[in-house]
Amino acid sequence: MKKKQRIKIKVSTNAFLYLRVSTEEQARDTYALESQQRDCRRLCQERGWTVVEVFSDAGFSAWADVERPGFLRMMMAIRTTRDVNLVFYDYSRFGRKVLPALKAFEELDGLGVFSIAAMNPLVDCMTAAGRTARRDELSKAEDFSDQQSEKTSARMRASFEEGRWGRPAPLGYQNVKTKIKGQPNIVPLPGEAELVTKAFELVSAGNSRPAEVLRTMTAMGLRSKKGNALTAHTFLKLLRNPAYIGMVHSDKWRETRPGLHQPIVSENTFRNVQLILKGKKPIAAPYQRNRAGFPLRRFFHCSECGTPLTGGRSKSATGKKYDYYNCYKCRAVRSLPVEKAACDFAELLSRLQPTPMLMSEFPAILKEEWAKRTGDSAAAIAKLKMDLRERRTAREKLFEKYLNDDRNVVPIFESMNRRFEEQIAGIEAQIEEAEMARATVEELMEFSKSLLVNIPEAWRRADVDQKQRVQNVLFPSGLKYHPEKGILNSDNDCLFNQLEAFVSGKVFMVRPERFELPAY
Ligand SMILES: [Zn+2]
Repeated sequence: MKKKQRIKIKVSTNAFLYLRVSTEEQARDTYALESQQRDCRRLCQERGWTVVEVFSDAGFSAWADVERPGFLRMMMAIRTTRDVNLVFYDYSRFGRKVLPALKAFEELDGLGVFSIAAMNPLVDCMTAAGRTARRDELSKAEDFSDQQSEKTSARMRASFEEGRWGRPAPLGYQNVKTKIKGQPNIVPLPGEAELVTKAFELVSAGNSRPAEVLRTMTAMGLRSKKGNALTAHTFLKLLRNPAYIGMVHSDKWRETRPGLHQPIVSENTFRNVQLILKGKKPIAAPYQRNRAGFPLRRFFHCSECGTPLTGGRSKSATGKKYDYYNCYKCRAVRSLPVEKAACDFAELLSRLQPTPMLMSEFPAILKEEWAKRTGDSAAAIAKLKMDLRERRTAREKLFEKYLNDDRNVVPIFESMNRRFEEQIAGIEAQIEEAEMARATVEELMEFSKSLLVNIPEAWRRADVDQKQRVQNVLFPSGLKYHPEKGILNSDNDCLFNQLEAFVSGKVFMVRPERFELPAY
């Protein structure tokens, strides 16, 4: 700006207030904005000025003009009003970067507008000395803020590298105050931690959909830190949080590394859950790590004590090694050769051919029954997606108006934006759940087709993962193995029997979660 003849700065009887708090400040103190306003109003009262308008920026920490709509609006109002004083809280709130702040002050001086900081009322913009003091205050504020952010950032990085948790403790943990190096700052919270562990185990076991597990866990008392039942959305987020296997993650550095805190979920379980959530692992898949050669491990149970059989290799008298199943607990079943067990099971499968009536009618009946239960989920999803698009567009429009300083929008922006965010999250959760339900129907249809194949032959040829999927679907609670009589009570819990009953109308509803399995 070239030196023009200086317009004399005039003190008015009216005042504008300008307030600003950063995101971090707001997080620390929800009343930060109000307390700034109180101090500014007090100054106006002392000087007998009338506050005509209050401008504020909340949550904008940097000096980028585009990010400070309140400031821009204030400058615009001053350009048209002129006969007004500007009261702000202190120099660091006016602007943290010296040059743009000085430019703004120069413009205010040029317009003849008296400006004053409630916290530094002695700095007088009408004198040369005052203007020098103003420059000093601004550069102090800038240095301070640079140092602060550098320090904070370095501290955060060091803490993250050490493996400390950087946010409020996740569900299942509580924060502990410790500054000791190498000590975790979150620890499992008794009661809550067990519920989280249980949730992971149930999802990983694969007998129920995550949404089903959530209902079970809610009934068992799982609640958010605020005491509310978890939404499907938050539950899925929980299931994806690597904190539970003892990791820390930073969005800022896009990095996950080992944390100091104690894991409450095993890596195996966690990995299983991730595969299930990504749809890469069918539900009803085995939850124990498979060992090729032992497909019936943990599927056969000891008839005497109920313990799942373990698999292992032992040496015979001749020194040759053989694979066996054993009950490690009561040892009633011991040294059951894997070949013998496989033959017994294949023989059972061959007796389990579905009847022609089941084969021909089951898919159609099932589809009809399912449609009755869930409605047309494809249509439901399409409708939800439309709602979601509409909400998002509405929110974008709100933002646009806010950035254009629309007077009708600015005062209600925060609350409206929050409401939109909640609605959007709610719809997204519903879509996720509906999509899960739909995937289940499709898997179900596929599975019902697979009833037509030769099951014993398919089982024999399948790899260990596929074998176990078939077993688990056909006999959801496993089979009892007797040391002499072999497989016991095979018919009671067989899927086919349930299906027969269902088709013939003896059972009204088959528990659909039993079928959450694609054809292998
Ligand atoms: Zn036993």
